[in-house]
Amino acid sequence: MKKEISYEVVKIGIKNTGEAPIGREIFYQCGICQFIVPSTPKDSTGCLCNNIGIDKDLHRLFVKDYSNFIVLRKNSGSKSLRGGWRRKYFWFLVEKYGFTYEAKAEFQFQNPKMLVQISLGPKTPRIYFLRRGDDPEYMMPIERIIEFLDGHFPYRDTLKYELEENVVYYADLFRRYADRLINDFEKWWFPAQLFFYKQYGANYLYPYLKQHRMIE
Ligand SMILES: [Zn+2]
Repeated sequence: MKKEISYEVVKIGIKNTGEAPIGREIFYQCGICQFIVPSTPKDSTGCLCNNIGIDKDLHRLFVKDYSNFIVLRKNSGSKSLRGGWRRKYFWFLVEKYGFTYEAKAEFQFQNPKMLVQISLGPKTPRIYFLRRGDDPEYMMPIERIIEFLDGHFPYRDTLKYELEENVVYYADLFRRYADRLINDFEKWWFPAQLFFYKQYGANYLYPYLKQHRMIE
């Protein structure tokens, strides 16, 4: 079988070079000229438009425009396929809503207010939300939030479908609610927690709700 070489996006949206990982399998891509350079080059190198430069003698990475700096990992084989679905189907979070993406983070998509975790699972993808700075214990699945917003729990019999079909379904569900979920995050986050607490007797939420003055 032909050995496939592919690149997986590891990180975009970093703010300084100190946040850039380095390694034999790590490469940097320039979003302007699309050129890819190794993070550990044998000699000083750079992209075609000089947005990215690596000075071997100084051991330094130079980046002019961080919004056009993409960290990649080189893969051989197809193990990146599942991770690729996250980028393929949830990339609207980056393009349309300005999230940053980090493949290895517990919550792969982040903005200043909220964190989003997409876990693929063997058959059933899960989308979790968390308020930035809060304990992951309080993360909330998208179904519960939709139940709070619209009064119905979106149920899908995921075992009837292939994983990728389920990923497409959940990405589409997210996309349909994205304006409300993202733009109105501060309006629904605590009321949704309170709803969940009351509806399901989720007692572990009590100290959290009390701390944020949602209950006495
Ligand atoms: Zn360039």
